[in-house]
Amino acid sequence: MLSPLVSVSIPPPSATQHPYNRHAMTLAHALPILDLGPVRPTYAQGPRSLDAVRLLRISVTDRCNFRCVYCMPEDGVPFTEQNDLLSADDILDVARAAAEVGVTHFKVTGGEPTVRHDLIDIVRGLAALGPQDLSLTTNGVLLDKLARPLREAGLDRLTFSWDTMRPDRFARIARGAGRDGERALSQLRRGIDAALDAGFDRLKINVVVIGGVNDDEVADFARLTVDQPFTVRFIEYMPLGDATLIDLAGEDAALGSPYTVDNHDVRLAIEAELGPMRPVDRTSEAGVGPANVFRLPGAVGKIGFISAMSQPFCETCNRLRLTATGELRACLFEGGEVSVLPSLRNITDRDARTADLIDRMRQCVALKPDVHSQRGNRAMSQLGG
Ligand code: SAM
Ligand code: SF4
Repeated sequence: MLSPLVSVSIPPPSATQHPYNRHAMTLAHALPILDLGPVRPTYAQGPRSLDAVRLLRISVTDRCNFRCVYCMPEDGVPFTEQNDLLSADDILDVARAAAEVGVTHFKVTGGEPTVRHDLIDIVRGLAALGPQDLSLTTNGVLLDKLARPLREAGLDRLTFSWDTMRPDRFARIARGAGRDGERALSQLRRGIDAALDAGFDRLKINVVVIGGVNDDEVADFARLTVDQPFTVRFIEYMPLGDATLIDLAGEDAALGSPYTVDNHDVRLAIEAELGPMRPVDRTSEAGVGPANVFRLPGAVGKIGFISAMSQPFCETCNRLRLTATGELRACLFEGGEVSVLPSLRNITDRDARTADLIDRMRQCVALKPDVHSQRGNRAMSQLGG
C-alpha cells in the first residue's frame, strides 16, 4: 500500500533523470500575468493565426469541490469573488464572437463547472449558438443529478476525470469532497451511469498519471475500454501553478517533475498486460483534442494519450482559453493573456463589442509560443485545462 501522498518518496531530480530536459525552453516561473494589453513574450515566435483556432475552452468558475494534488494546494486556495466572475451573458458574448471567426467547438470547464449555479443556462446559451460540438469536463460527483438537465440543455459530450479506482488513493489525490474516497468513487460511478442513461454515448475518461501514485493502475483503466465504449485518455502530469505536487517536487525539479510519467512508458505497461494496440483514425474521435488514439485488440472503446510534456503538440494547437475572470489565454504554460473586460464593460453597441472581442482574440493567438516551457505560471483550475 502507498504511504500517504505527502510522504511519497521523490527521486532527487537530476538532468540525466528527466527525459523532458530535451524540450527544456525558457522557464516560465516568474512570468507576469499580462493583463494590461497584449505584450509579446520574448520566447513567442508565432505569429499564430486566429483561422487555426477551432476550440474555445471556457472556464466558468475557478472554484472546486475537490483539491486534486496536481491542480491545487490543499488549503488557502484564493478563489475569485462571485461578482468578479464573468456572467453568463459575458461568456455568451465571447463565445458568439468566437463562433463568428470559425470556432466550432466549445468546451465548458473550470474549476469544477458543476458548482456554478447557472451552468445549465450557460450550456443552453452555448448550444443555441449552434456549435459542431459542445462538451463539458467534470470530476463527476454531481453528475447523477445534472446529467439529464445538461443533456436537455443541449450538451453533446461529457468527459469525466477519474484517476484511481482505489478509495484510499482517491481520498489522497482528490482531497476536498473526495476525502471520503469510497463515497466519492461511488458518486463518480453513479455520475457516469447517469450520463449513459441521459443519452451521452461518447464518454471520455481523463486519467492524470502520477509517478509513484497511480501509475500501477494504467492497465486497469485501459481494460475498461474492452467492453465499454469509452475513450480513456492518459494525461501526462504538467507542473502548473502552486499545486501540491509542485511543492513536493521542489523548485529543483523545474526542468521536469519526477511525478510526470512519459506516456511512452504508460503505453508499454498497458501493452505488456493487454496486448498490442493499433492506431485509430483520429477523425473517428469526437472533438478536436490533442490525443493520439489507439484501440486494444477486439476492444469497443479507445485509448488516448495526451503527451504535452514528452511530445509537445504546440505546432498544431487549435485552441484558445477563456478564464472565469475574463482573460483570453494563449497557452496553458505561458503568460500570453489578453483581457476581454474592456470590450464587455466599455462597449455597449453589440456589433462593435463583437469586433473588439475578435480583435482581442487575434492579439491573444499571436502570443502563442512555438513550444511551451516546462512550468506553467497559473493553476489548471484557473485556466480550465
Ligand atoms: N474539474 C474538472 C475536472 O477535474 O475534470 C474540470 C477542470 S480540470 C482543470 C480539467 C482537466 O485537467 C481534468 O481532466 C484534470 O484531471 C486535468 N488536470 C488538472 N491539473 C492537471 C495537471 N497539472 N496536469 C495534467 N492534467 C491536469
Ligand atoms: Fe477540481 Fe478538476 Fe482541479 Fe481536481 S482537476 S481540483 S476536480 S478543477
